[in-house]
Amino acid sequence: MIRGHCLCGAIHFETNAAPLGASMCHCGQCRRQSGGIWSSAYVAETDLTITGKVSWFASSAAAKRGFCAQCGSFLFWKAHDEDTISFALGAVVAPTGVTLEKHIFVAAKGDYYEITDGLPQKD
Ligand SMILES: [Zn+2]
Repeated sequence: MIRGHCLCGAIHFETNAAPLGASMCHCGQCRRQSGGIWSSAYVAETDLTITGKVSWFASSAAAKRGFCAQCGSFLFWKAHDEDTISFALGAVVAPTGVTLEKHIFVAAKGDYYEITDGLPQKD
């Protein structure tokens, strides 16, 4: 069981499904919205229960980003043409049971850090 919540607690989420694709995203959109690197994993949208009011930002024609309008926590990423939803690993209550698999959009990463954990890196 994965349980998570935003900083202020207005939004909670949980799933009994095994999260997939745990990754750290270095793209410009995730960097700006999260203030750094956004760590997430995904489950089928039907397997994720969300309580509270999520605000959605349409960051592109392909996807939207869910956050708490009260505290600003960036919690969800959803592609319009996929039936999965990504949730922020940083918002999950430990122990997550999740192990990071990869770094993505590393071509857009910040110039103020290096990735040194040896995990696969995708441009
Ligand atoms: Zn909140």
